[in-house]
Amino acid sequence: MQIQFVNLQRQNKIYRKEIIKVISGVVKEAKFVMGPELTKFEKSFAKFCGKKYAVGMNSGTDALKIALLAYGVREGDEVITVANSYFSTAMVIAEIGAVPVLVDAYPDTLTIDVNAIERAITKKTKAIIPVHLYGQSADMDGILRLAKKHNIVVIEDACQAHGAMHKGRVVPIGETGAFSFYPGKNLGGFGDGGALVTDSKKIYETCLYLRNDGSLEKYFHNMIGIKSRLDTLQAAILQFKLRHLDEWNKRRRQVARMYDEKLKNINGIEFIDVGRDNYHVYHLYVIRCNKRDELQRYLKKSGIQTVIHYPLPIHLQKGFKKFGYKKGDFPVSEKASETVISLPMFPEIKDSEINYVCSVLDRFFRKSPK
Ligand SMILES: *Cc1c(COP(=O)(O)O)cnc(C)c1O
Repeated sequence: MQIQFVNLQRQNKIYRKEIIKVISGVVKEAKFVMGPELTKFEKSFAKFCGKKYAVGMNSGTDALKIALLAYGVREGDEVITVANSYFSTAMVIAEIGAVPVLVDAYPDTLTIDVNAIERAITKKTKAIIPVHLYGQSADMDGILRLAKKHNIVVIEDACQAHGAMHKGRVVPIGETGAFSFYPGKNLGGFGDGGALVTDSKKIYETCLYLRNDGSLEKYFHNMIGIKSRLDTLQAAILQFKLRHLDEWNKRRRQVARMYDEKLKNINGIEFIDVGRDNYHVYHLYVIRCNKRDELQRYLKKSGIQTVIHYPLPIHLQKGFKKFGYKKGDFPVSEKASETVISLPMFPEIKDSEINYVCSVLDRFFRKSPK
């Protein structure tokens, strides 16, 4: 049996007719940039997130960057985020000339450690970027309390967490969050895409300028912006897919429950905790074990594709050398990078495939326990 980590063809096959109709509509209309489908999708996506506004952008990375700019984060300001995330969460801070201040993660959920944030706050701290990692909310109660106390901006990296909830509230829990529509995300387009969602009218209006060369009226530019729009075609596809997102997230949760149930008695597997009151949407299903690399090779030989999220924490990336971090700075993130492995996870995975993955895992740990 061959099982891909994410199989996008399966979903495309199911919705082929509808999606082609959506694409034909946009082609016929030929308003490829800032067409009416973009505004439509922005309205729907804001509503889905329980927020007043959404602004479509080129990627999740740009949504984070533009959020920082919109809140006035500038050169020399410090922005706190977590070492255990995708590189661009921290890259955007450096990109705009601010100082990325990394902190470690909680050992149980692997999301950003609130006590570590508190210790990292200085007079220069302007913002915090918590990450809703793997599809579950970070510890937002603690983070928002800290932010309020110290008058710091919070921008939630929700790029893996479309529809995730904390205490029944959809993320972002605070004022503003960034999403990615990269093809493999819970809501993914046919290329790069992203969005910022916010409850602040001021941030919303600033972002409309920032993503469009600083302009809202053609050839009149009120500020130095960047060019980062969500294509009409992507917006139209995402608008169609958004209708299925809740159902897909439910299936992801069901797949996760099957994995939980079938793997719980295997000696050698350690699970990632799900925080209390969290509705996890399982962008990724991650387990931990000591013989991770050996396990990955074994699964591969059995036809099962897995991915490591992430093999090198941000503070040890070559691209972050100039910030002077070293091995040992963030032990939880470092340990995670050596032990985590993400199992196949997508809504269209079959029960028989999940069973197969679990039986191969069982066989591996029987042969080489611990
Ligand atoms: C995917 C992702 C991003 C970046 O999104 P892009 O659309 O690929 O730019 C940022 N942060 C996290 C946690 C992500 O998973």
